[in-house]
Amino acid sequence: MFGLSVSRGVAIGRAVLVASSRVDVAHYFIDDERVEPEITRLRTARDAVASELTTLQRELPAEAPAELSALLDVHLMLLRDDTLTGATKHWIRERHYNAEWALSAQLEVLARQFDEMEDEYLRERKADLEQVVERLLRAMARGPASSFAPAPGVRHRDFAGEDPLVMVANDIAPADMLQFKRSVFTGFITDVGGKTSHTAIVARSMDIPAVVGAREASRIIRQDDWIVIDGDAGIVIVDPSPIVLEEYRFRQRQIELGRERLARLRHTPAVTLDGERVELLANIEMPSDAAAALDAGAIGVGLFRSEFLFMNRGGDLPGEDEQFEAYRTAVIAMKGLPVTIRTVDIGADKALDRMSTNELRHEHVLNPALGLRAIRWSLSEPAMFRQQLRAILRASAYGKVRLLIPMVAHLTEVRLTLEALARARQQLSEAGKAYTAVELGAMIEVPASALMLPTFLRYFDFVSIGTNDLIQYTLAIDRADEAVAHLYDPWHPAVLNLMARVIAQARAAGKPVSVCGEMAGDPAFTQILLGMGLRSFSMHPSQVASIKQRVLRTDARRWSLLMSRVLASDDPELECKNAALVLSPPQREDLALGG
Ligand code: PEP
Ligand code: MG
Repeated sequence: MFGLSVSRGVAIGRAVLVASSRVDVAHYFIDDERVEPEITRLRTARDAVASELTTLQRELPAEAPAELSALLDVHLMLLRDDTLTGATKHWIRERHYNAEWALSAQLEVLARQFDEMEDEYLRERKADLEQVVERLLRAMARGPASSFAPAPGVRHRDFAGEDPLVMVANDIAPADMLQFKRSVFTGFITDVGGKTSHTAIVARSMDIPAVVGAREASRIIRQDDWIVIDGDAGIVIVDPSPIVLEEYRFRQRQIELGRERLARLRHTPAVTLDGERVELLANIEMPSDAAAALDAGAIGVGLFRSEFLFMNRGGDLPGEDEQFEAYRTAVIAMKGLPVTIRTVDIGADKALDRMSTNELRHEHVLNPALGLRAIRWSLSEPAMFRQQLRAILRASAYGKVRLLIPMVAHLTEVRLTLEALARARQQLSEAGKAYTAVELGAMIEVPASALMLPTFLRYFDFVSIGTNDLIQYTLAIDRADEAVAHLYDPWHPAVLNLMARVIAQARAAGKPVSVCGEMAGDPAFTQILLGMGLRSFSMHPSQVASIKQRVLRTDARRWSLLMSRVLASDDPELECKNAALVLSPPQREDLALGG
């Protein structure tokens, strides 16, 4: 089965199918002694739902249609049926899943059986089953919380003797993906999604092999199937033969060895063969990611996607103090190295809980990627925007903070941002709260801002090119839509020319320019970006070492001499591949790493 490779490496494990609506259910393993109490939680929830349904039925008004009572009967029957709660116990006892996970695993098994039924009436009972499970999950959430849920921040280990697990879902929202950062899963497969969708970006930041856009995966793969995820090739193999399995186990070991070799570069400065210093920065989603950034040898944070602080909160937004604490934590963790905090980029595929994903995706907003997103959203919520600006400014008293504004396209947005910033400073001064000067940067990710860069540069201290969106908006390709993923092309001459122009103009104006989109962390682009004059790259911590290796082996001056030819070419990718063979022949480790 083919999909889009979004996070490299090989994962081998048993499939755990998760319905999209159930992805946010807690997934963790429990110990032997916790099996019975977990079953009790399930039983208590079942009894609560049974009494809920019986009461509902008893209190039905006399004029209520008879079908309603019959429907409640069906729900009660499903609830008592051993194939639901009885079999759920099996997942708890045998697999040591927590009750919520066990219940959703069993729902997947039964839903599949319903889908395959000939009889239409029976097939439609799947919706009833889902409603019953929903009620059970709600009852569990209301009941005493499981005292076994691991504390946040604890990395869940595979349960002793258990096989590794890979998650298979139709779709996973970026916010839900974030919850899997410390999860039991060693790989991910989704039916939908593009290479630079935020779900894919979070998967990459977890450094776990993942394939998205595998279309029928969640329909074809069955619960517990053995799966190989080849994250490099974007291939999913179901039920591999022993020979294939052995081959992939060998690949896994090779990749591990390659990683260990690369890790030795951690403290080596990133300098090209011709002596150009290159800044390798990290992209982070949470303050706790700062540790991984330092560990990887990043010399600062080039993009802190602050919107992730606003997710998974059931609709309430973090206040100024809470945000300040989060930013300060990241700043202190970076030990004096710069931290670039981007104001919230909410919207498009990153919904807030209070805007339902459907609302943002299709139902009410026709083109969410072109809608109320990023700075547009912030400016539509001025109090919230100033609150975030104050929180970021306050964090500047603890280290070097830079402020980055996403998706600017209009000069009015720049003016309003500057006004909001001035007001936020004034409010802090009046309140006697400390802050220092922060540099202000613009993300260049809309062609309009790329095309009028010199004007924008008058207002900003630095710029950062967001290639994920710049490609999306230049080529008119929804980055999260796998149906057009083949047209989402970072090598498109229009994209490369636009980038080259931005880099050249920023340098000419003496303003720092960085790239913080996924292209910065892809070794296939390191040489061409160096050739364009780029000296600052920001990427997931896990990619820093391989980009550094590329930098160390590149002669930036020789690549710059090739640029006019590459940029005028119909096929810049081929042009670069040919040039790479001459200028820096692949080394043995590159081949082993597939880089
Ligand atoms: C980008 O668009 O390249 C970028 C870095 O921002 P995000 O991926 O969060 O939209
Ligand atoms: Mg962007």
